[in-house]
Amino acid sequence: MMFDPQLLEGQHSLQANEHREPVLEIKVVDHRYHPMSQILDACSLDIYPGEIVSLIGPSGCGKSTFLKIAADLLEPSDGNVICRAKDKAVLFQEHRLLPWKTLYENMRFGLRGRSVSQSEQILRMEKAAQTMGFDKEDLGKYPSELSGGMRQRAALARALAVEPDLLFLDEPFSALDIGRRRDMYRLLLSETKNRTYTVLMVTHDVTEALSLSDRVLVMAPDPGRFIKEYTIPIPLKQRNRHLVSDLEADLLSDPHIADLFNMANWEQLI
Ligand code: ADP
Ligand code: MG
Repeated sequence: MMFDPQLLEGQHSLQANEHREPVLEIKVVDHRYHPMSQILDACSLDIYPGEIVSLIGPSGCGKSTFLKIAADLLEPSDGNVICRAKDKAVLFQEHRLLPWKTLYENMRFGLRGRSVSQSEQILRMEKAAQTMGFDKEDLGKYPSELSGGMRQRAALARALAVEPDLLFLDEPFSALDIGRRRDMYRLLLSETKNRTYTVLMVTHDVTEALSLSDRVLVMAPDPGRFIKEYTIPIPLKQRNRHLVSDLEADLLSDPHIADLFNMANWEQLI
């Protein structure tokens, strides 16, 4: 791969990780939903403050299971998670907006149970709605009145209103068309730059992972386990389509990984 060596300078501020405390330490030894069927083998992952880490792998390999364990929504059969984040938010593939509540009420619902004053709630919701490109009128609409892309943006707005320092994303952009997806990438990246978020994202889209992350972990199935960790040597803001496709070629030059995604001879179109 041909990289401009200058690109390697000014790397996202991840150096000297070993001197910092991870914001999240995930240690799964084994996970099963049913005793006879192992879903996850040993998989450990430490995530440092400000990092964007993606987990990629074919459908059904256990990515969502791992993410749920990481987000403390699911107890691993064997393993443990140490989380040092103050506040976390989770965004799923399906938007999970409540259909009987307006966008405004949905966002407010996201803040329930958090000690945020009434006026602070309103301030945060207005800010998150504005960041996600909604106007006042949109806030009064029900999910059924919003397009698929708007619903997904609404769900991200709801997650961001929490002002989390740790964000879990489970294929949040897969239902969007390519233009909207790019808008979301930009929004997410500008958000991660403005605040000190840490992100753990799950996707089956290799290009998406390589476009948005500092580090990518590849998961293989039966049972789910990490087979490769890939630290991306180019700062996020310098990535473009060509560099990302070089990264993709590099990653898929590993025959195990190409196989995993059914991408042997991937340069051939058909
Ligand atoms: P991915 O997100 O990579 O597509 P999942 O973590 O959703 O994979 O699922 C991994 C495996 O675990 C699949 O075989 C799926 O059928 C199974 N599975 C997921 N959730 C449950 C559940 N709640 N109960 C039983 N099996 C499940
Ligand atoms: Mg999944």
